[in-house]
Amino acid sequence: MKKIIKVLLILLGCYFLLTLIVPTVIDKIKNTTTLLPPYKISSEAKKLYDSLNFKADMHCDALLWNRNLLTKNTYGHVDIPRLLEAHVALQAFTIVTKSPKGQNFDKNDGNSDQITSLVIAQGNPVKTWFNLTERALQQCKNLYKFAKKSNGKFRVITSKNQLEKYILDKKNNTEITAGFIGVEGAHALSKKLENVDVLYNAGVRMMAPTHFFDNALGGSAHGVSGEGLTDFGKKVIAKMQEKNMLVDVAHASPKMIDDILAMTKKPIIDSHTGVKGTCDNVRNLSDKHIKGIAKTGGLICIAMFKKATCDTTVKSTAKAIKYVIDLVGADFVALGSDFDGAVEASIDVTGLPLIVEELLKLGVSKNDIQKIMGGNVKRLLLKSLPTN
Ligand SMILES: [Zn+2]
Repeated sequence: MKKIIKVLLILLGCYFLLTLIVPTVIDKIKNTTTLLPPYKISSEAKKLYDSLNFKADMHCDALLWNRNLLTKNTYGHVDIPRLLEAHVALQAFTIVTKSPKGQNFDKNDGNSDQITSLVIAQGNPVKTWFNLTERALQQCKNLYKFAKKSNGKFRVITSKNQLEKYILDKKNNTEITAGFIGVEGAHALSKKLENVDVLYNAGVRMMAPTHFFDNALGGSAHGVSGEGLTDFGKKVIAKMQEKNMLVDVAHASPKMIDDILAMTKKPIIDSHTGVKGTCDNVRNLSDKHIKGIAKTGGLICIAMFKKATCDTTVKSTAKAIKYVIDLVGADFVALGSDFDGAVEASIDVTGLPLIVEELLKLGVSKNDIQKIMGGNVKRLLLKSLPTN
């Protein structure tokens, strides 16, 4: 008996050590940056960047890595000190709950999952090990924990009233920043419509139907079926829009985007994407879908990694932004970096002024740059979020 207890204690000790070391190593390997800070920025771009009072980014997976977001880290792309340094007003924190092994870009089934081993290695509660809804709830909880411990420097925005108050507060205190919660892949609902309410109550205000594989809502751009919305998918979209949650078409199959555009009653967003016009692949938006999203009054948020823009430069992101401006106008473009999304990003969040620099080089007007860097997100959220 004593021997068994000894073995169990040793195993527990090993597990504890594993939770301390392995997640950080994986985080460092997965989330790299092409251009490292500190960034050299032209005085014109810096001046313009500093004058923008609402800077926002609509996609970042920092919660997946169990990183302490209250301290400035030397790896990854986002944490609260770096958001404050970059004077970002709002960062969307998007929750990943399942990702197929190998994460093939063109085709995956949903039979494997690499997040399970990550969640276990992170020492997360046992209830999150095999339950996708619990995984999502845990990440929501963690963001609120950071807000609570931030001494008022960071808050989570879930309503129009909160956003209005935050905008007022920010006028008197520039040393505050905020988060907004999204979910990447509605398999986080565990196939239950009532879990839309559960995620909503946990603070989620944006959700993408699919991620890297087909699920109960329909086809992923990287899945095998290519199908559109299922009946369950239609019910989820309708319920989300009833509750004023944003529908995010990132990673959806083209057929699914068609179906969502056909049924939507509210503005639609693509939280992190590239465009086929500058980088043609399965995850990027066609001109038809860019026009469709703009017609809903929604946003196309341009990402900052190679698969989205076919390059790892800030210039390639600016080029994709310019493409959307030329196609539908500057009111429908925003930033959706995919920071900390297991990608090599061109910059970390403190490099956002470089986007302004590249947009100026492309001849984008100061007024349009203000919209792209956050003005459009502010407008959309004030219009779309639930009042309270
Ligand atoms: Zn993604």
